[in-house]
Amino acid sequence: MQALVKKHDKIKTLGTRHCFNNIADSKDNLLSTRDMNKVVSLDAKAHTVTVEAGIKYGELAPYLDKHGFALHNLASLPHISVGGSITTATHGSGIKNGNLASAVRGLEAVIADGSVIHLTKAADGEKFNAAVVGLGAIGVITKVTLAIQPTFMMRQNVFIGLPVAQLKDNFEKIMSAGYSVSLFYDWQTDRINEVWIKSRVGVDAEHNQPEFYGAKAATKNLHPIIALGAENCTEQMGVAGPWYERLPHFKMGFTPSSGKELQSEYFVPLHHAVEAIEAVAKLGKQIGPHLFITEVRTIAADDLWMSPCHNQTSVTIHFTWKQETEAVLALLPLIEKALAPFNARPHWGKIFTLSAKVLESRYELLADFKKLVAGYDPHGKFRNAFLERNIYG
Ligand SMILES: Cc1cc2nc3c(=O)[nH]c(=O)nc-3n(C[C@H](O)[C@H](O)[C@H](O)COP(=O)(O)OP(=O)(O)OC[C@H]3O[C@@H](n4cnc5c(N)ncnc54)[C@H](O)[C@@H]3O)c2cc1C
Repeated sequence: MQALVKKHDKIKTLGTRHCFNNIADSKDNLLSTRDMNKVVSLDAKAHTVTVEAGIKYGELAPYLDKHGFALHNLASLPHISVGGSITTATHGSGIKNGNLASAVRGLEAVIADGSVIHLTKAADGEKFNAAVVGLGAIGVITKVTLAIQPTFMMRQNVFIGLPVAQLKDNFEKIMSAGYSVSLFYDWQTDRINEVWIKSRVGVDAEHNQPEFYGAKAATKNLHPIIALGAENCTEQMGVAGPWYERLPHFKMGFTPSSGKELQSEYFVPLHHAVEAIEAVAKLGKQIGPHLFITEVRTIAADDLWMSPCHNQTSVTIHFTWKQETEAVLALLPLIEKALAPFNARPHWGKIFTLSAKVLESRYELLADFKKLVAGYDPHGKFRNAFLERNIYG
């Protein structure tokens, strides 16, 4: 890796290539981390695991579970690499759960001159906080150390048709009803299509009741896009299972989501959740024809400079779009305008149209991040069109 990085003037690292924008693209050289997928060591005493950065969560999770451990959270799919996920601040749900990058305790990376750097949360403070959600600009992350905890079991219960009006007074209660809660909504009626509640067995309240805030308990497993069969989805109906087979919505080895889609997602401070949802709802008629489904989730605040949850517990409004690029690109500025009063920050790995100037105004440490990157990569070896447009403006 050191020799490869030294040899080329321009390089972009690839994880599992699950981003929806051009953050991972290069016209020059692409370096795959696909085969860097080993567990390096597990420290049961320190409650950490060190992995090669290309490992997928779906490869790591069963290993951890077998050894009696778990991660604190997972994204909707286990198919994605640890290196690529932490780089874009990939997240699951849960008001008390930070994004996946918040579990990072140490990094090893090859920087532009081919040298190796090591950063740890314990020793490197703000330098570490700056590098973890690195947007691919710091260098090639080769190893990652993650915090782990004793393994746990979970149940997943789904409710259908939650009256949107319930969100007004009960949003935080609804989103705190389990360890991780997601709302799926198509913006077309006054009812949220599906509420997914993921609860820790023996810790959180069980949800075997027939109703939840006016929504009815599902009578079979469901897909977030209700018209699709649930074969690709993790087990529901309150059946207990290991954390890594309940936290993601989609099973490893199966196509996640619709399989043919675009995605966008915006983060706003949790206290603006209801206003932000109401603002987007006004665009429901325009959004509807191009949308498969929206997902609303929550994520705890963190201290990672480029994380959309930096210093703010957030609610995310996500859009799984049909592959209608032109229509979606025309709609995004309307959604971004509606969410502007809440200083919405976009998901780094999904499609957005906000300008570099707006991004800079919403990330108070972006200028410092650029200074730090200049130290690691003075000649822009890891810069691509995405970074030029969005970070360097
Ligand atoms: C069906 C589907 C569902 C999704 N669900 C979620 C979800 O629930 N939550 C969520 O937040 N996101 C979700 N995403 C988005 C996606 O998972 C993330 O954006 C994530 O970054 C993908 O990781 P990757 O390994 O594929 O990264 P890639 O797309 O391969 O790369 C992303 C960035 O990381 C850089 N990079 C990758 N590996 C390294 C490395 N080793 N060192 C340095 N830089 C590196 C790349 O250069 C690029 O800049 C979903 C995507 C899909 C397709």
